[in-house]
Amino acid sequence: MIFSAPERFIPAAKDAEISSSKAFWFLFKKNELLVFASSVNRLEVPYIKDPSDIAISIVARQCIGHYDGKPCYTAEVPDSTQKNDDFIWSGLRSLYGKLDDDLFAISGRAYQIADWYRNHQFCGRCGERNKLQDGERCLICPSCSLPHYPKIAPAIMVMIKKGQEFLLARSHHFIPGMYSALAGFAEPGETLEQTVHREVHEEVGIRVKNIRYFASQPWPFPHSLMIAFHADYASGEINIDPNEIEDAGWFSATKLPERLPGPISISRKLIIDTLRRLKSV
Ligand SMILES: [Zn+2]
Repeated sequence: MIFSAPERFIPAAKDAEISSSKAFWFLFKKNELLVFASSVNRLEVPYIKDPSDIAISIVARQCIGHYDGKPCYTAEVPDSTQKNDDFIWSGLRSLYGKLDDDLFAISGRAYQIADWYRNHQFCGRCGERNKLQDGERCLICPSCSLPHYPKIAPAIMVMIKKGQEFLLARSHHFIPGMYSALAGFAEPGETLEQTVHREVHEEVGIRVKNIRYFASQPWPFPHSLMIAFHADYASGEINIDPNEIEDAGWFSATKLPERLPGPISISRKLIIDTLRRLKSV
């Protein structure tokens, strides 16, 4: 699954000593990753000894693991870092298909760790400057001991089937013509199944049953974990919440929306899986 760590990647559970050997450096300026053009439509993550090799200074760096035995570091660079014709700053989404798939997946992890580090420099309870905890990936407050771990926000996605039809919806921010499966964040205290029931009822006013796990996908925008399900329609008529979504309807293999979500997303895989299941019935 896209953004999930490849088999050849061994994650580091904590920061490690910097080595003097070459390493993959995932360098982020705000939300953009530094990449090089190696050929037409192919981009590379720098594989270098140190960012100073390419005249980049960094604010902080973390070892996130090893890929094929090679260290992988993630680091933040100052916002003031100047543009340079030798490299490109790019948002992660637009790198899909241009970077090697494995390095693209690792870049999602690298981004989440760099973003967590940048956003937790100070204790959220007492304001003291946090310090990295020995032995685990945690920023801890030396004054009140509050730990700050990398944040992951679980969100559900659900494909509701009714006979030969399935429910898709579009949110206000989707590109024109695109529909996708319903999705929403889990709230404190909920099981994922309860989140499915609540989100479906809130967004389209219907009830579902027979919820089955499909797959999950880390989604580093900025720190979600999307957990996708199949479910069956139980009762009710579509009645959308206009604050949440713009439109929803029943689609089928012969009546698809003008546009589906891009191949980077688990929603695309959920829709393809649904079409395959309908075909095999
Ligand atoms: Zn504190």
